[in-house]
Order: sequence, then structure tokens, then C-alpha cells
Amino acid sequence: MARYIFITGGVVSSLGKGLASAALGAALQARGYKVRLRKLDPYLNVDPGTMSPYQHGECYVTDDGAETDLDLGHYERFTGRPANKQDNITTGRIYQEIIAKERRGDYLGGTVQVIPHVTDAIKNFVLEGNEDYDFVLCEIGGTVGDIEGLPFFEAIRQLGNELPRGQAVYIHLTLLPYIPSAGEMKTKPTQHSVKELRSIGIQPDILLVRCDRKIPETERRKLSLFCNVREQAVIPAYDARSIYEVPLAYHAEGLDTQVLEAFGITGAPAADLSRWVKINEILQNPEGEVTIAVVGKYTVLKDAYKSLIEALVHGGIANKVKVNLEWIESEVFEKEDPAPYLENVNGILVPGGFGERGSEGKIAAAKYARENKIPYFGICFGMQMAVVEAARNMAGIKDASSTEFGPTDVPVVGLMTEWEKEGGNKETRRADGDLGGTMRLGAYNAVLAQGSRIADIYGSTEISERHRHRYEVNIGFRKQLEDAGLQFAGTSPDGVLPETVEIADHPWFIGVQYHPELKSRPFEPHPLFASFIAAARDYSRLV
Ligand code: GLN
Repeated sequence: MARYIFITGGVVSSLGKGLASAALGAALQARGYKVRLRKLDPYLNVDPGTMSPYQHGECYVTDDGAETDLDLGHYERFTGRPANKQDNITTGRIYQEIIAKERRGDYLGGTVQVIPHVTDAIKNFVLEGNEDYDFVLCEIGGTVGDIEGLPFFEAIRQLGNELPRGQAVYIHLTLLPYIPSAGEMKTKPTQHSVKELRSIGIQPDILLVRCDRKIPETERRKLSLFCNVREQAVIPAYDARSIYEVPLAYHAEGLDTQVLEAFGITGAPAADLSRWVKINEILQNPEGEVTIAVVGKYTVLKDAYKSLIEALVHGGIANKVKVNLEWIESEVFEKEDPAPYLENVNGILVPGGFGERGSEGKIAAAKYARENKIPYFGICFGMQMAVVEAARNMAGIKDASSTEFGPTDVPVVGLMTEWEKEGGNKETRRADGDLGGTMRLGAYNAVLAQGSRIADIYGSTEISERHRHRYEVNIGFRKQLEDAGLQFAGTSPDGVLPETVEIADHPWFIGVQYHPELKSRPFEPHPLFASFIAAARDYSRLV
């Protein structure tokens, strides 16, 4: 039977609970255990799909088409286990289900309440589908004390009693701030946080304490005493040079050992973290570096591009180079010449995006890359804008545009209202339909033309990649664009939806309609990112 590890946070948000959970998952996996990670988000959105990346960072898409929290990306990258719809739940989704049941009359006249109905729904979610796992790690979003988090804390408290003894362990992640004027670390915020947790009936077994400097034994003892946690179970969590160092660092501090001890597990296999050591060696000793310009819209908030940044790091690992990123707000290119910004970079990447603002700047970036033969990687919106650019400037379709920006006579990119799902089922959409959950989402197959550069990169002509978009490049323009030099190298299996484009007469110019960054992992860098970084490394200016 699966054992449960509940990870909560306190003091402040953004302490890296998701990473800590993923790192613990990786350390347990390195001991040969099967782990599953799940995220319980207390906000009222049904899923993060409708949330602005400015507020919530990237929306991570799973193979089965769920729009989920970005922590699921960490989980996948660290454990290699593909996440699915059932790995992320929100208050919104729970209420949506409960209210639908209530309307159907399923509660048979009963009063529907937070306890037991909401908490039961949360518990059912936590317990479902875990037969094949040794450990299920459940991370609760937010911090202890948040009003909307209460039902979740209550649910995991109840589980502590309902699961057989010794099957649940609670980890609490907090911050130990250093106060320069006092020259001291302060344990009080952690004490208060644990007090809050205990007031709702949860005694943490393990404290994971973030601190920007070494925690002295005295402070560790104090935390142990005041928070009622064994001293060895107060685990320092220091800043790491790379997120991929975190599993090694937490393991060295004894996190997984303490977890096993809390469960009363003896004789567990030793952790084999050699693959983590290996990638850290590459990260710490790169043989060169490349600079990639990322021309996007949400460049102030790096979380909006979490998976993309990681996939670029993985591309660096594959080539043993450090990847420096230069973030450029695409709107800049609507007023200024891109040359001073782009002439010294080794590659240009236009990532996914939405809406008209900044789109002309992305088109300008694609044009600059194409004309100056700088490696160009267009992802989703970045492909669509590259196609609009090619239509305008290679094929001479002056007014080419996307219907995403309003009505146009030349919809080189247009809204798809119907497409084939696997198994021949049709998915349909209305232009005025709901925004939530209505994009083309999740894994779809694509077929790559034999002999194309992209087929060569994948080493295959059949691929499956994750999508999240509403608009499509219009296949009706294929002939015109191909004649002008932009090849539609990949399409949906029925040939209706363009999936990838490339320019043969260019060192590396590829656009993809899907999001390859979602499937890249440190141990299995995505072939497109590995190839793009290799091209950036080899790039020498031709003009
Ligand atoms: N806005 C575009 C669309 O909906 C691209 C989306 C994306 O880049 N993820 O099709």
C-alpha cells in the first residue's frame, strides 16, 4: 500500500515547495521506490488554464490535455513520470463536481458542507489510483493560514487518522530569515507557522528550513524544541547553484533518510544519485556558452516560461554548454531596430504567447533571424508569427495576419473550429465559446516528412507532442509558402493541420505548433532543444 507524504508551506510563499517535493521524489526514486507527486491547489479557478502567466506563471499541459500548475513540470522533470489530469486538483474543480452532484440530487436531501463533503472529495482525490506506488507526495499550494487552504489542511489531517498508523508523514517548509541589524537568524516565523499548523491538528514530522546561510546547531536545536520536531528532522534547505543540485543537497542533509525513519522503514536501499551527480558536473563545468534571445511578452516573470527555460538548460546539458538567456520584450522591436539587440546572440527563440500586443515585434524577430541566418526556434505562437512573416516577406502576401488579432482578408493563421482527435473522434469549438479548457490541448500525433531537417532531428517521422493553442496555420497557404521556401515539414496525421515548418536554406529555422519544452527532461533533453543549442553553438555570423 502507498505511503503518503504531505508537504505544506509556511511563513511566505515562493520558498520552492514544488521543487522540494520534486527533489524528495527524486531522492526516494533513487532508492528504488516508485513515487507519484500530486498538487492540491486551494484557489477557486477550476484549473490554471485561464490564469494570467503574470499571476501564476506557466500553465503546464499534460499528455491527457490537463492545464495544470507549473509544479507538475518540476515533478515530471525530476522523476520522469508523466503527470496526468489526476495529479492536480483545485478548490474550483472540487466545488464544480460537488455542485453538479448536488444539482443532480445525489445528496438525497442532505445539507452539503465543507466537512464532510468537500474534505471527502479532497481525500478521495488524494487516495485514488495509487496502487502502483510506494510513495505518494501531495503538495498543498499556498501557505498555512490561508483561508482557502483550510479544507485541504483539514482533509490531510483526517487522513493522518484514517490511514493505517505510520502511513502518513507531514513535512513543513518554512523560512529562517537572517536579520542583518541583529546579526541573527530568527526562528520565530517558523515557530508561528508550526503553531498555526498544530492549531489545525497537524504536527509536522519534518521541518525543511530555507535559509540563505548556514544554520548553527543552536538554532536547529531551538527549532526542534519549539516546534516539537526531532532535531535530526530539522533539515536545512540552502540555496543551490542549480535546481538540479537540490536532490543532492537535500539528500546530503538527510531529508529522504528522515522520511524513511518517520515511516519506520529500516533497511531501505541506498540512494543511487549518480545520474544527478553527472548532470551537475556538466552544469558546473561547461565547455562553452551560448546566448539565446528569448523574444516574448511575459519576460518580467520568468515563471511564465519555466519549462522553456529548463528545456534550454537541458539543451545546454546535451551539448555541455552554458545557456545564457537574454530576455527581450517583443514590443521593443515595434519601435526599434532589432539589430543592436540581436546581432550578438547565437540563437533567437520566440516562445508561445497570446494576443496581438507585441506580435509585430515577434514577426520582426523572426524576420531578423531569417534574413541574418541566425538559428531561429519558434514555438507555437513563435511558429505562427514566423509563418506570417514568411507569408508577408517571402511569399509577398502583404496583408498576411492571424485571426487572433481580429478579422483579416488573409488569415494565414486562423481559428480552427474542428479537428480530429486520436481514434477518429472530432473535437469542435465555437468562436464565441468558453475560454477555459477549450484549446487544442494535450498530446497529438504528427507526421514528419521523410528527409526534412526535423525528421532528422527526431530520428523519426512519427512523433507525439503536447499542444495548447486555439489557432492554426492555415493549410490553404501551403503551396504558396512552400514555393517561397518555407516547408511544411510536419502535419497532423490527416494532413490538415500544419505542425512544423522549416526553411532549408538556413542554418536552423524551425517552427513547431506544439510545446516541445513540456517533454524535455534533464536526463532526456528534448531533441529539438539539443539540436537548437548545437546550432547556436556552431553558429558563426555569415553577414
Ligand atoms: N495564441 C496562439 C493560439 O492560441 C498561440 C498559443 C500558444 O503559443 N500557446 O493559437
